Amino acid sequence: MILKKAIRCFLFSGLILLYVAGCNFPITLAEPPARPGEQPLRTATGFTPGPGQTALPPLPTPLPATQEATLTPPDPLRPRYDLQVALFPRARRAEVSERIIYTNRHSAALSELVLVVPPNRFEGSFSLRGIRWAGQDAPPPYRLSGPLLTVSLPQPLETGSTVGLQIDYQIILPESAGAFGSTPRQLNFGDWYPFVAAISPDGTWLAFPPAPLGEYSVNDLSDFKVSVDLRQEGGWQLAGSAIPRQQGSLWSFELTNARSFSWSAGLEMVTLVQQFGEITLSAFVFAEHADAGEMALYHMSRAIEVFSSLFTPYAHPSLTLIETTMNDGMEYDGMFFLGSGFFKDHQQGIIANNLMVLTVHETAHQWWYARVGSDPYNEPWMDEALCTFSELLFMERVYPDLVNWWWQFRVNYFGPAGYVNLPVNAYGSFRQYVNAVYLNGVNFLDELRYRAGDEDFLRFLKEYARRFDGRRATGADFRALLEEIKPVDYSDIYQRYFR
Ligand SMILES: [Zn+2]
Repeated sequence: MILKKAIRCFLFSGLILLYVAGCNFPITLAEPPARPGEQPLRTATGFTPGPGQTALPPLPTPLPATQEATLTPPDPLRPRYDLQVALFPRARRAEVSERIIYTNRHSAALSELVLVVPPNRFEGSFSLRGIRWAGQDAPPPYRLSGPLLTVSLPQPLETGSTVGLQIDYQIILPESAGAFGSTPRQLNFGDWYPFVAAISPDGTWLAFPPAPLGEYSVNDLSDFKVSVDLRQEGGWQLAGSAIPRQQGSLWSFELTNARSFSWSAGLEMVTLVQQFGEITLSAFVFAEHADAGEMALYHMSRAIEVFSSLFTPYAHPSLTLIETTMNDGMEYDGMFFLGSGFFKDHQQGIIANNLMVLTVHETAHQWWYARVGSDPYNEPWMDEALCTFSELLFMERVYPDLVNWWWQFRVNYFGPAGYVNLPVNAYGSFRQYVNAVYLNGVNFLDELRYRAGDEDFLRFLKEYARRFDGRRATGADFRALLEEIKPVDYSDIYQRYFR
């Protein structure tokens, strides 16, 4: 049994829907009405029970994973980040000593390294204390401008050569709910450390200014060791992109072959754990939301099961969900944040809600972002449309009776429209961005599936996940592989959805 207690799921009606779409979503309160040409809905959610059916079927128990889940061995060619943190929770302050080991895998020598410093997006949050190359005493010339740090190398770094960089800094978390922010009960460290930007094959550093919408970071797969020394205060618990080991006040994490490492410290939070085969799934939630946390863990395990089977096996020994007061979800490697509102709204016995949909969406990012990387600034559809489409694949397999509900609740109610393939800064508003990239993105992918045929499209998705595993794919790669796996004419679909 995955759940400690059996859960009965009853059909619900008359609920006010709390809508978000995952990853920086505004919330609107609405009951979806029928759109022109649609049948009126029999329930507020659009879920229409079958004849004689008054309750959803009991939750099926997922099969145990057959895969071995172990930490991928560190690879000296991958960037390596050692982060030692002294955390002063009441002051929202972290003193960080970061060591980066970086090997030049680009085809030409480098004269400088460009790092992205996400915390320097926030006024007064990042103070650089020191910076030096390994083996050098004097600090190198550098420029820190907003979230970009450019550091001159003492001599050109040839292809295949390795360099070490030590950076010491202080972080004061903003007093706001968010992936990088703090509330009296929680300190969230998402996008919190300087990292070396990815390089395109033509030698361009893929470092973009923060976009008002969506994400902007392109991350190479890296290895991480993170230790956090909790200073002064008791009662705080930690969770992050890996399962921590605790010795006294020191919490240590290790994660390899990952796009990022994020973590959170919380008061009066509990860690719920479920084994899924060799994979440890955990939910770090506010103690009063433990029931909803159990439910989210269940959905996470089903999503891991479905996506491991459809795409590639899940890559890490653990996955952690962290509840946070932000009104949103946000993916990182090995973990994701999920907004408290979805836990609060969860009602015992109900499964068709945002807690399920967004848990599944954020879990899908472990494939479309973490395993298959992309450029979320220029081609945000490549992870967001695929994650939203993955929700549909999940519903079709786990809750086929709820597929119509999902289309109405998640997509049709909002009137999907707009070009799918534009960069994040091309959309005028958040609603426009979501309606085009996520929702029309699902329509686009579903049309491709219809044209290719279900079986061949799934074969394509599996091959896409396999071939670009650990790499960065572009929209052109996606189309070329689709046309290779199922060579039919998709051009009219592309013309309608792409500019
Ligand atoms: Zn997303």
